[in-house]
Amino acid sequence: MQVWKFGGTSVGKPERMHSIRQLITSTETRKIVVLSALSGTTNALISIGEAAKANDEAEVNRQIDALKSHYDEFIQDLYQTDTGLAKGTEIVEKEFSFIRSLVQIKPFTSKQEKELVAEGELLSTQMFEAYLVEQGENSILLPALEFMRIDTEGEPELQTIEELLTSILEQHPDKQLIITQGFICRNPRGEVDNLKRGGSDYTASLIGGAIRAEEIQIWTDIDGMHNNDPRIVKRTFPIRELTFEEAAELAYFGAKILHPSTITPAKMRGVPVRLKNTMQPEAPGTLIANNSSDREIKAIAAKDNITAIYIHSTRMLNAYGFLRRVFEIFEKYKTPVDMITTSEVSVSVTIDNNTNLDAITAELREFADLEEHDTDQTIICIVGNFSADKEGVAHKVLDAMKHIPIRMISYGASEHNLSILIHAKQKAEALNVLNERLFYYEDAMKGIFTAP
Ligand code: ASP
Ligand code: MG
Repeated sequence: MQVWKFGGTSVGKPERMHSIRQLITSTETRKIVVLSALSGTTNALISIGEAAKANDEAEVNRQIDALKSHYDEFIQDLYQTDTGLAKGTEIVEKEFSFIRSLVQIKPFTSKQEKELVAEGELLSTQMFEAYLVEQGENSILLPALEFMRIDTEGEPELQTIEELLTSILEQHPDKQLIITQGFICRNPRGEVDNLKRGGSDYTASLIGGAIRAEEIQIWTDIDGMHNNDPRIVKRTFPIRELTFEEAAELAYFGAKILHPSTITPAKMRGVPVRLKNTMQPEAPGTLIANNSSDREIKAIAAKDNITAIYIHSTRMLNAYGFLRRVFEIFEKYKTPVDMITTSEVSVSVTIDNNTNLDAITAELREFADLEEHDTDQTIICIVGNFSADKEGVAHKVLDAMKHIPIRMISYGASEHNLSILIHAKQKAEALNVLNERLFYYEDAMKGIFTAP
C-alpha cells in the first residue's frame, strides 16, 4: 500500500482534481490519498475566525459568502453528471451551514476556531470522494478524525494512530482508493485539532509510518528538491536520491518543500518518501530513504540573515567550562546557535535571530572580548555523503571558493554537511561557482556530461 498526498494547489481547481483522479488510478497499487484544503481556503477560514472573535458579524458573513460562492462555482466544473452535482451541492450546503452555526457561538474560542479551520479539509475530501463515486471508482472516504490523534503536547501518537487505522482498514479490504484528510486530528479531550499549518505532509508521513507503507508520495507542483537554488543558479537539476539526514539538512537551509520533523515518522519506520510533480508525473522526482546511491555531493543551499559573533578569551586557554558559560547566555535568550568554530582562545558562533543580540553581546562582554559582530552574512551549506574516509570533498569546495573571502568553515559535525560563512553580497557568486565545480567540472573533464 502507498500513501499519496496532494497539497492545496494540486486540488485548487476542478481540472486539477480531474488530473488527480487520473494519477491515482494510473497504477494498480492500493492507495491512501491524503488531501489538503483547496488553496486559499485555510487562510480564508482563519480570517473568518478572526472576524468572529472580534464579533464583527457583517465581516463574518461577507467572508463566508465569498468563500461559499467559490465552492458553488468549483462544483459546477468538478462534476460531470446531475447526480454528481446534486451530491456536491449537498456537501457544500451542509458544511457551509455548519460554518454559519459555528461562528454564532459566543465566546468564539480556540475550540471553535479549530473546528472552523478543519472545514477546509472536510470539504475538499468529501467533494473529491463524491467525484470519484460519480466516476465509478472503487473508493471510500475515511475520516481522519477517527484515527489521527495527538497528545497533550500536540505531538502525534503514532502507536494509537497505527492501532486505530489498522482496524479501520481491516473493515474495507476491497477498497482500492482510500481518501482522507490531511492536517486535522483529535486531541486528548476528544476535540477537533490540527497538526499546525502545512500539516498535511505530516499526516501523510504519519499514516505511511503507521501502516508501514511501501512508499509515501508527496505531490506538489515542483519536480522534487533541486541541487541548488534555481532562482540564482542557471543549471540546476532535481536530486534523484537523498537520505533522510540529507533531506533534513536541506530543509533547514530553506528548501521549503518538506519540513524536517514532517518526515520523522517515515524515517522511524524506514518508509521511503518520494517527492513528485503533478505537472510532470512521469518525472522520477526525489526519493528520500535510509540509503541513497546517488552522487557523493548532493546539493548546495544557502541561508541568509545570519549574524556572526566572535568571542575571545585568554582564559579559555587550557580551561574548561568556558563554552558552557557562552552557551548558557544563548540559552537564556532562547537564541539558537547555528554554526560554531573554535580555536584555543576563541569561539565564533552564528545566529539567525537578532532580537536579543544586544543583550547577548553585553553579557558575553562580562567575561570575554568581543570583536565587532558581522550582520548580513550567509551560510552556504554543501550537503552530501561525506563519511570520514572520503577524500577530496573539502578540496573541491575550497577550490571553487578560492576568490571568495570566507569567515567561517564547519566540517565534520555530521557526515552530511559542510558549511561556510560568507558575506551575503557574495552569495550568488558562491552558489554559481560551487555549482559549476561540484556538479559539472569533473563530468566535463571526463568527457561525460551526465548532469541534465
Ligand atoms: N490546509 C492546511 C494549511 O493550509 C494544511 C496543509 O495544507 O498542509 O496549512
Ligand atoms: Mg502545503
